[in-house]
Amino acid sequence: MHAVGVDIGGTKIAVGVVGDDGKILAKTRRPTHPEDPASIDAAIADAVAELSSEYEFHAIGLAAAGFVSSDRERVLFAPNIAWRDYPLAQKVAEAIGRDDLCVVVENDANAAGWAEFAYGPARDASSMIMLTIGTGLGGAIISDGALVRGSAGFAAEIGHMRVVPEGHPCGCGHRGCWEQYASGSALVREAKRAASERSVRAAGLIRCAGGDPSTIKGPHVTKAAADGDELGIELLTELGQWIGTGAASLSAVLDPEMYVVGGGVVAAGDMILGPARDAYVSNLSARGHRPIAPIVAASMGNDAGIVGAAALARIDTNANG
Ligand SMILES: [Zn+2]
Repeated sequence: MHAVGVDIGGTKIAVGVVGDDGKILAKTRRPTHPEDPASIDAAIADAVAELSSEYEFHAIGLAAAGFVSSDRERVLFAPNIAWRDYPLAQKVAEAIGRDDLCVVVENDANAAGWAEFAYGPARDASSMIMLTIGTGLGGAIISDGALVRGSAGFAAEIGHMRVVPEGHPCGCGHRGCWEQYASGSALVREAKRAASERSVRAAGLIRCAGGDPSTIKGPHVTKAAADGDELGIELLTELGQWIGTGAASLSAVLDPEMYVVGGGVVAAGDMILGPARDAYVSNLSARGHRPIAPIVAASMGNDAGIVGAAALARIDTNANG
């Protein structure tokens, strides 16, 4: 049975009809205003009406970048959209106005993780941890075949696991969070710091950024490293090591079968994942006496939110008969 997945971003929504096999059959987009939740509800309803002219479905999953209640009905807080204890599932259902639809809300990182688990590299695993490494570090935990949402719905905020006491300040108000070391922002911070010294070894990286150290971005580091630049390789290695070190701590708690790494940094491939694997192994507890969880690249790309939200909504519909 088809289901619909909605990826709700800060300034646009992407809505897709997803088949049982995780393939997107049709997709449409609408611009939205993050400060006006009602406009987002209306945009979703409009997109759903367009898709329902051609496809039959009874389940809609909404992937939302925010803290989602464990009953999957409300967004309690979102950093980039004006949702404050907002009954998103109910509002969207009302805007669509069909009584044969099941609408559920999922955290966007959880939805993306579920897509990789159901249809991506973890499809044969029973447990996995997804690490989404973009500006920050998001995650999803799937244990014994089930998404771990936590008691309030706030589980898997793994980027805020503390790895360095009194370390770099974090947007969450604390210091030393994992995402301050294992994220695209951390990579850029360290690259700019190294380049600001204007040493001979920073010359290649500065050249990749067009001559101005203050404009360095993640892809510049990846490009420099791919060209064999020593500093670029060192920066990616360091990022990878932080990924592996944190993953080893997660394995001590959750013992996943594998890690799936998504987000922008995946473009650097084994230049990051290689050091991540090495650091993971050397920091693992009971090292040598437990399986080594593979650390692999995600495969669902930007469609993961749509596909995962649709798949999770479909499960819910089936469970309710
Ligand atoms: Zn934090």
